[in-house]
Amino acid sequence: MTVPFLSLKDVTDKYSNEIHEAALRVIDSGWYLQGKENEQFEADYSKYIGTKYTVGCANGLDALIWIFRAYIELGVMQPGDEVIVPANTYIATILAITENGLVPVLVEPSINTLQIDDSLIEEKITAKTKAICIVHLYGQCAYTDEIGQLCKKYGLKLIEDNAQAHGCIFNGKKTGSLGDAAGHSFYPGKNLGALGDAGAVTTNDEELANAIRSLANYGSSKKYVFRYTGRNSRLDEIQAAILDVKLKHLDEDVAIRKSVAKRYIEEIKNPKVTLPKIIDWNQHVFHLFPIICYNRDELQKYLTEKGIGTNIHYPIPPHKQECYKEWNGINLPVTEKIHNTELSIPMSPCLTDEQIQYVIDSVNEW
Ligand SMILES: *Cc1c(COP(=O)(O)O)cnc(C)c1O
Repeated sequence: MTVPFLSLKDVTDKYSNEIHEAALRVIDSGWYLQGKENEQFEADYSKYIGTKYTVGCANGLDALIWIFRAYIELGVMQPGDEVIVPANTYIATILAITENGLVPVLVEPSINTLQIDDSLIEEKITAKTKAICIVHLYGQCAYTDEIGQLCKKYGLKLIEDNAQAHGCIFNGKKTGSLGDAAGHSFYPGKNLGALGDAGAVTTNDEELANAIRSLANYGSSKKYVFRYTGRNSRLDEIQAAILDVKLKHLDEDVAIRKSVAKRYIEEIKNPKVTLPKIIDWNQHVFHLFPIICYNRDELQKYLTEKGIGTNIHYPIPPHKQECYKEWNGINLPVTEKIHNTELSIPMSPCLTDEQIQYVIDSVNEW
């Protein structure tokens, strides 16, 4: 038996009739950008997330870049200001901050939740801090009431990187609606994935939404009139149509992810492996199923030999990357430990019972 880490073909095949229909509708319409499909998806996504506005854009990195850029354009932030961010995130979160001349202040995660350790945030706040950017990493909610209170106390913007957590719920509210603005990625492998690149910003802030819509359209809100030096970062109509189909099935797919996770958590029993700790089943949508294991590379090799696909999220933390040489000497032991011991085992809404059982048995045998 083989178990791919993630088969995008299976993910697409599951809803292929509806996806084909949506794609053909756009192809035959003769209208490919900034049309009805964007409008419909943005309205449906706003309703799903629970915000007033969704602004579609080209990808998740751009969504985050636009949030910070719009705050700069609106005078809320200026280059040199600091943004608090978890040190163990995917690099895109950090790139969005540095791209805008802002300074990321890296905070260690908790080894239990793998999310930003909220008890370490307050000591990092300075006169230059303008925002806390949380990342719902692996699909687990990173928001806590403590983080919300810190933002209020110090007048900070709360920005969510919701690239991995579509459908995640904190106290009845979806992630992506918990802060001032959220960046979403619809990269094909994400829980809500397009068939190519796509992203969006959600917010209740009308001014921010308008600025982002202009920035992602050359800086223009009126044809041939340019308010900002923007870029072309729009969401294609064909992707918006496909996303609207997949959005209708998102909760169904998340429920399957949770049932896979439940089996892994109940049935993987290997003292060499630490499983994710679930604080609340609403607060995790299992974009990934990260396990912690000291002989991670050995386990990965073993599973590869058994035909089971795995991945490491992520092998090198942002502060150890060549592009951020100035931080290479920083000591972030918890972050480094996670990067040295994390292994993601297969997780998708398309795994069969036999495949799930095979993964469980293989990890237990090791
Ligand atoms: C995927 C991802 C992004 C970037 O999204 P793209 O659409 O690939 O640009 C940003 N942050 C996190 C945490 C991600 O996982």
